[in-house]
Amino acid sequence: MTATLLERPPTTSFEHAALPSPESPVKLTSIDDYFSIENEIDFVDKVKGIIPEQDTRRYIEDDMYKFLGEFAGKVPYTTIRYKKTPSGLDFAGLNLSDSYQRAATNGDREHAEWVGYDKIQQGLIAGKKTAKWISPAKIADYGFLFHFQQDESDPEWINEYILRYDEPLGTTDISQGIMDRLSPDESYNTAEQFLYNPVIEDGFDDPKRELMFVLKATGISDADIERSFVYEAAIKQLLSGRVDEYTNAILSGDEVGATQLRNGIFAAALEIAANLDKPDPNGPGHTVHSDRFSQPKDSVNKFNNDHIFFGNYASQEVKIEGGGSCPAIRKNSGNPFSANDIRTAIATGTSIENLAESKWDYDKPGTCRICEQEFSDTQAQHNDALGPCALCKDCEKQFNQLDDTPTFLQDDFDLAA
Ligand SMILES: [Zn+2]
Repeated sequence: MTATLLERPPTTSFEHAALPSPESPVKLTSIDDYFSIENEIDFVDKVKGIIPEQDTRRYIEDDMYKFLGEFAGKVPYTTIRYKKTPSGLDFAGLNLSDSYQRAATNGDREHAEWVGYDKIQQGLIAGKKTAKWISPAKIADYGFLFHFQQDESDPEWINEYILRYDEPLGTTDISQGIMDRLSPDESYNTAEQFLYNPVIEDGFDDPKRELMFVLKATGISDADIERSFVYEAAIKQLLSGRVDEYTNAILSGDEVGATQLRNGIFAAALEIAANLDKPDPNGPGHTVHSDRFSQPKDSVNKFNNDHIFFGNYASQEVKIEGGGSCPAIRKNSGNPFSANDIRTAIATGTSIENLAESKWDYDKPGTCRICEQEFSDTQAQHNDALGPCALCKDCEKQFNQLDDTPTFLQDDFDLAA
């Protein structure tokens, strides 16, 4: 792939994440609704003796970092991590092929999903470093880009980034716009054609650049990408010691200890994110997020070694706004995917693709956080209630129109650093 990044204009406009207006009612809900300690401990019990403990540890840490990314940092993507084996990709000891293969008999689209997925796993086993897979709108007005990328520090692992984009059901124009940016020579007219033809290649030599290229292709702005990367690095630097402690608590089944650590880590992550978003003291045009972490030593010590300082965070009651980080991630996956949920889905023959889609069902009763309309259980059963952001379908549409114009056609990334 060359640096002819984004030279051609997009065929359609993309939405860009926007926050609701300050006066819109924001419902606060308990952190337990989005991150269940019990669920994490259950996962550990299920995989005991099936996968190595170091892998279990990795899944537990991933769940925490994913949660911090989506719910505190408003990072506009979610990830799932697989292990590469000679027979394909595994999640927590389960081979993914089975779920795709089982679904393949359900229809043309599912058959195309299986064929496309099989190409991806074969390509990755053969040593290719990335695969980009476009899944046009299937059950509602959005499609997904699934981006597989070999882990930077451990080639045994593959990270899948799940990116959701708006696209009217029954059309593939937005999907083609994304394909034009990913692989300009490919052009398809049906969902099945996109699914049959994942783009499997080594991509850019620099894995970070590769990821930026893909995020940008789905319409995420340079500013959001930079902010997300800086946030993730800051979280790892400032909180990894506490996340280790938390992981130990989960592995030993210490529910109380794990809950306190989770609350403290989340409160600290919120503060780190808020710090990142403070107006720049040097004025507009000088927003370099990384400046804010140029001298992190004190903070690292505080968060990791100062028990009284951290204890203040751990004792806070933790509430989450409305549907969590939905304003930022609503284009993407919805609620975070816990290792336990993913494993259960795969074990029951649900492909990751279908799992991602079902996360965006409008099946939650309650009050819309914008128009305050009430939705009943019956409406929820008919998938005519609230989505994962606690917004009704109409409000989500309006919400989209408030969005900024995308910036992805501006200059190429500045990746010289
Ligand atoms: Zn509404």
